[in-house]
Amino acid sequence: MNRQVESFKASLLKIPGFIDEDGVLHHEFKRGNHGRKMDFGTVRKGMPQYSAWVKQNKRAIRERYSYEQELYIVGVESGTTELAFDVAEALGNFAVGLRTEKLPDNSVRLSESARLLLRNYMQTKPARVIVLEDVGTTGFTSGNVVLETHQAGAEHSEVQITWKRSQDLQFLDEHGIQHYAIIDDVVPSLRPEECEAYGDCSKGVRLVQYDR
Ligand SMILES: [Zn+2]
Repeated sequence: MNRQVESFKASLLKIPGFIDEDGVLHHEFKRGNHGRKMDFGTVRKGMPQYSAWVKQNKRAIRERYSYEQELYIVGVESGTTELAFDVAEALGNFAVGLRTEKLPDNSVRLSESARLLLRNYMQTKPARVIVLEDVGTTGFTSGNVVLETHQAGAEHSEVQITWKRSQDLQFLDEHGIQHYAIIDDVVPSLRPEECEAYGDCSKGVRLVQYDR
């Protein structure tokens, strides 16, 4: 990790509640595992951490793509939608943020307008899509958006994760989707039975159910 990323990570850990490390509660995640939650919802616009977040995403994209390449930047769920627009703006006029929306079944899809825009655009000039995700656990959410961009005709789509918290991003690896992480640092999550046996559940730490 370079020094800028190191200091970005340190500044995130200074935000109260970013990781609930106090042992008062732990969380159930979307796929059922239990662990301490990393809440990028606490990184609000106007905070130095937010500017650093935009900057680090921009830098990571610039390491792979030149100014000439057409890119679409997509945020998933509410967490990174605003970020996607700000990163797109920081990158210059070739990058466009696309919106996603959460369906009643809790899956995340490109918004209707984003899908139309992408489809129309791809007919004349195929472009690359970078899906931003705040925390990478399995890559399920961002991976599904990538699959949708393929259907819309994207030439190549990949995922850029701010904090990759698990060893393997199972969904992305299974679907052969390329991914990059700004911070690659495992934060443990356990299967419910493991948590019952020796994790927070076994210590009586309150479990916050996943918000369905
Ligand atoms: Zn537990």
